[in-house]
Amino acid sequence: MASSTSIKSRHVAVIGAGAAGLVAARELRREGHSVVVFERQKEVGGTWIYTDHVESDPLSVNPTRLVVHSSVYDSLRTNLPRECMGFRDFPFAIRSGESRDPRRFPSHGEVLAYLQDFSKEFGIEELIRFETTVVRVSPAAKTDGGERIGNWRIESTEKEKKSHHRDEIYDAVVVCNGHYIEPRLAEIPGISSWPGEEMHSHNYRLPQPFKDQVVVLIGNSSSGDDISRDIAGFAKEVHVASWSNPADTYIKQTGHNNLWMHSMIERVLENGSVVFQNGKTILAHVIMHCTGYKYDFSFLDTNGSVTVDDNRVGPLYKHIFPPALAPSLSFVGIPCKVIPFPMFELQSKWIAGVLSGLIKLPSVDDMLMEIKNLYATLEGEGVPKRYTHSLGINHFEYNDWFASEYGCSGTEEWRKEMFLTSFMRKMEHPETYRDEWEDHHHLVAQAYQDFSLYIS
Ligand code: FAD
Repeated sequence: MASSTSIKSRHVAVIGAGAAGLVAARELRREGHSVVVFERQKEVGGTWIYTDHVESDPLSVNPTRLVVHSSVYDSLRTNLPRECMGFRDFPFAIRSGESRDPRRFPSHGEVLAYLQDFSKEFGIEELIRFETTVVRVSPAAKTDGGERIGNWRIESTEKEKKSHHRDEIYDAVVVCNGHYIEPRLAEIPGISSWPGEEMHSHNYRLPQPFKDQVVVLIGNSSSGDDISRDIAGFAKEVHVASWSNPADTYIKQTGHNNLWMHSMIERVLENGSVVFQNGKTILAHVIMHCTGYKYDFSFLDTNGSVTVDDNRVGPLYKHIFPPALAPSLSFVGIPCKVIPFPMFELQSKWIAGVLSGLIKLPSVDDMLMEIKNLYATLEGEGVPKRYTHSLGINHFEYNDWFASEYGCSGTEEWRKEMFLTSFMRKMEHPETYRDEWEDHHHLVAQAYQDFSLYIS
């Protein structure tokens, strides 16, 4: 820890006003920094701002397409219980009000309303420049009387004012731009001459357009799971292909007459057939890639200090600071397979403390060594690069490290148990896990006991 006399207040740019950017802005301001948040949409909430609009290119590969930020579909409900999902000191508790959704696994609209509440409660909107896109972030070379002022140059453009191009200097940049926008696609032998339609789940909103069609989905993570069931209510047949299934997998899903699980697609043919590794062949109208997303920081110029290689963003100390540019450049929200909001909160507290000098980072060499060791461990365990940021159950330890550095309490036991319980229930009862919670009321009671500190 530094002495209080050496605490510094920085001028910080936060890119994005989704859940990560909102809590980053709050923590930075609490720590005494001056904060400007850049947000290209016209409201807060990021990916939770549902829109009917989809991109003109259903696969989202055309670089000139108009990007639609949200990947949320109409029927989406959270895949985590609300109590466990919310920020630590602003509980995602059931709130009264006509348009509120009181369910434990509420709809996307309830999450958006919660983020709007958060923004109002902490006065974050006054820090945000809406409809302002950051087009370039690059190292600053600006000096004042020979003294270098600030580390980063931020170029931004305001919508409706195409000519309004701002060029400013900041001490630090916190990147909170989200990573569910740039689709990742499966490679399918024969796809260039397959006559059907292809799309990515990023552009899925409603099941009705799939009425009477034969649809193949690739991937059975959260989105693939939800969307296959959504579509099965309208389509003639739905077939889910997954890498994680053994080669002979062919299972009819319980509760549906028209939904099958398969192993991965082996190839597709010019006559419209899809051939699975299990030997089954079907004629399909649509292939939907539910295959996740790529990290993308195309606005960021670090002269090669930060790269994205097979979805590994690096090198990043604690998945946050590139050692060579620390602490003036940081990223909130890179890890996945986590409970996002509380992790964003702890990462942000730590970043704010590091920027003010209250928390000290190790030397650049030591940070690089830790990253090198992480990569070596992952390689030794046979984990592909693209899973570098996939923390899963380890994310509690990860979060608790920030908590101890910052000097606040670690993850609550009830939150850990709720996460694990809901994960297991999702595996065992994917159809009903959101609406059956009978055995776990003690966890909810413990959560609300903690929440009583923050809600009256
Ligand atoms: P985002 O919400 O994507 O926000 C990023 C913001 O940055 C956006 O507002 C964007 O407009 C802005 N931005 C980006 N680039 C620029 C730029 N150049 N200039 C200016 N502004 C910019 N999480 C859960 O906890 N529970 C769930 O049930 C859950 N379900 C999910 C379901 C789906 C389909 C998806 C895609 C995600 C889900 N998540 C869930 C994860 C979710 O993404 C996180 O909870 C969280 O909302 C991500 O917040 P973020 O701020 O990192 O990113």
